[in-house]
Amino acid sequence: MKVFEITGPNVSRVRNVNLKEPGNNEVLIKVRACGICGTDIHMFKGDVKLAEYPIVPGHEFSGEVISVGNNVKDFSEGDRVAVDPNIACGGCYYCKMGMPNFCENWRAIGIHLQGACAEYVLVPQSNVYKIPENLSFEEAAFTEPVSCCVHGQDLLNLKGGESIAIFGLGPIGLIHAQLAKGKGASNIIGVDVVEYRIKFAESKEYFDHVINPRERNVLEEISRITKGKGVDVVIEASGSTDAFETGTKILGLNGKILVFGVAPEDKLATLKPFEIYRKQLSIIGSFINPFTTERALRMLSSGVVQVRDIISHEIELEEIESYYKKIEKKEDNVMKVMVKP
Ligand SMILES: [Zn+2]
Ligand SMILES: [Zn+2]
Repeated sequence: MKVFEITGPNVSRVRNVNLKEPGNNEVLIKVRACGICGTDIHMFKGDVKLAEYPIVPGHEFSGEVISVGNNVKDFSEGDRVAVDPNIACGGCYYCKMGMPNFCENWRAIGIHLQGACAEYVLVPQSNVYKIPENLSFEEAAFTEPVSCCVHGQDLLNLKGGESIAIFGLGPIGLIHAQLAKGKGASNIIGVDVVEYRIKFAESKEYFDHVINPRERNVLEEISRITKGKGVDVVIEASGSTDAFETGTKILGLNGKILVFGVAPEDKLATLKPFEIYRKQLSIIGSFINPFTTERALRMLSSGVVQVRDIISHEIELEEIESYYKKIEKKEDNVMKVMVKP
């Protein structure tokens, strides 16, 4: 079978490898759609140390069951499935404390184990989920990013009626906006500097306002929109530390900011502790997707989150490297790029 492999910083190749048989508890899946994620690009550039090269990336995917191991009873050939790529050990301190996202023996498909930028991939049966009938493979490939957003919004504990500013209007920001709308957020404000992403968000009914900080002052605009009160919630989905700082400034009393975007590891931001105290602010981190995969699939199926229009390109394994560069530079109006191996 063909795989796309990152062999070192900024080096990749497509090559043939032997197809393995599923182990007793494994499911062999023919990959039908695999989204490219910012994490893949970090691994390609070598600017985050997650795993050892060579890596076959691809952790946002769906496909069709080809064969199953001896102990697998719930899946059979031809099943349409989505996958939670994060494998927790179940036995460490954090797993036992109900926090498998912090598993001390964490392994992820597409990071530590062969991912889905390949014709086939092996997955432990406990990480496989059946796709509801009304979802396409391409939509179901969003299960992992949606599940991460669901976890973040669980931590925000929205009650409905909140005003929310979302920084970063890529696929993740658009998913967050729809989830927030589904929970009854009353006023959703998108913030981004990339022109085509601003236009895209403006065309979506789930945004009430869209602001480009290069054209308008975000603090003034938010103050105008919220009549001087500030927003109840900020979702930082851009990874920019400037956005994080601005986000904390536009929060109203008792406001919460969800730190969802991945900022460069060593970059600092400035905050006034007095403001956190006096305004009673909460800063909330969110890491991957503990127990949210099934709910993500249901919300995709029910239409609370619609992702079909977020797919901007469908490509082959041979095109992945060139699209990493396009995604990084935001060329060619990229939103979610879907690999169809
Ligand atoms: Zn991802
Ligand atoms: Zn564990």
